[in-house]
Amino acid sequence: MEKLAIHGGTPVRDKKIFYGRQWITDEDVEAVAKVLKGDYITCGPSVAALEKRLCEVTGARHAVAVANGTAALHCAMMAAGLGEGDEVITTPLTFAASANCAIYVGARPVFADVDPETYNIDPDSIEDRITDHTKAIVAVDYTGQAVEHDRIKEICKEHDLTYVVDAAHAIGTKYDGRPEGSIGDMTCFSFHPVKTVTSGEGGAITTDDPELYRKLRLASQHGIVKAPAGFETDSPEGIWYYEMQTLGYNYRMTDFQAALLISQLSRLDSFSDRRKEIVRTYDEAFADVPGIIIQREIPKSDTTRHLYVIRLDRETLKCTRREFFDAMSAENVQCQVHYIPVYYFPFYQRLGYSRGLCPVAEKIYDGIMSIPLYPMMTDGDVRDVMRAVTKVAEWYRK
Ligand SMILES: *Cc1c(COP(=O)(O)O)cnc(C)c1O
Repeated sequence: MEKLAIHGGTPVRDKKIFYGRQWITDEDVEAVAKVLKGDYITCGPSVAALEKRLCEVTGARHAVAVANGTAALHCAMMAAGLGEGDEVITTPLTFAASANCAIYVGARPVFADVDPETYNIDPDSIEDRITDHTKAIVAVDYTGQAVEHDRIKEICKEHDLTYVVDAAHAIGTKYDGRPEGSIGDMTCFSFHPVKTVTSGEGGAITTDDPELYRKLRLASQHGIVKAPAGFETDSPEGIWYYEMQTLGYNYRMTDFQAALLISQLSRLDSFSDRRKEIVRTYDEAFADVPGIIIQREIPKSDTTRHLYVIRLDRETLKCTRREFFDAMSAENVQCQVHYIPVYYFPFYQRLGYSRGLCPVAEKIYDGIMSIPLYPMMTDGDVRDVMRAVTKVAEWYRK
């Protein structure tokens, strides 16, 4: 057996590889530079062009570009009209923002458990958590795999809930042939550098509903309307006039970020293909590695994977997740863990959430880590990662 680097053996590779990274080309840089030298660096034609492009990519009627994915979720909560006394059901196996957004508007996140094999929110558990106060669901396409939209939409219909999809991981994913962004009442995206396409910081919300669209615009732009309906006839004011109609925020994206994202989106298909190719290679390799459990895919999801998560089978391996993770780091393969269940955090504990709420999610959390997955990885990088996983798993086999 090959000695692990953590015990003084030779690491699988010399240079550290990280779990994710952006891919910026000269064309991307030129697109940004062109905007910076132009007339508008924020709120100009590039943001409008990006919103149009996002509609084409997702099949949605409307898109609102915002400052980041968290702002997108916050705007969705405001547009849904949520507030004090309302409950929003989400998953604990996500980035904190998926739950925090409910708290931003005074509502209460309620955590439903996840499916033991797909790790996505479990529709049966959603049904168990519904009360008279439930107003919305924030379903997260964990790792990029679509949740069971058909069933969740039925639940929303039956209980009159707003369906928000947190598709921060899932741009490019299709469910039953339909792109993410056209399925929920509102879909939120993030364009952080580790996500599939990036604008540095950035986010967007897509919707088919004109009224939600109007509210999303207000929420993201100070609640201000320029030239409100009828002002020319009813008012002594001139064309400088605008009205703040509700309380909103400044969640604008800049024009140069929009230009970067438009340029990135022109490569979404190739990013998506490369991610799928790496996922297939990993899936095949790990199917034969005892101790490594891979995520199950539902047939309806044609997934552009953002993360590749391996899960340790503690029946087969004698190490802890910590030992496996540290051994991978020593091999120069830097993994990450997605995610610590949101209600484990001190902030949520202080609000009265306790461990044990979602036993399946907690068990999954104990065994998972995300290994490197990004389109710029070479075939050699992919082989190194597979060798490291295999080497560490062999070492720790019972
Ligand atoms: C990244 C992410 C967000 C937040 O996006 P930001 O752009 O970083 O604010 C929200 N939800 C999930 C699931 C994410 O992965």
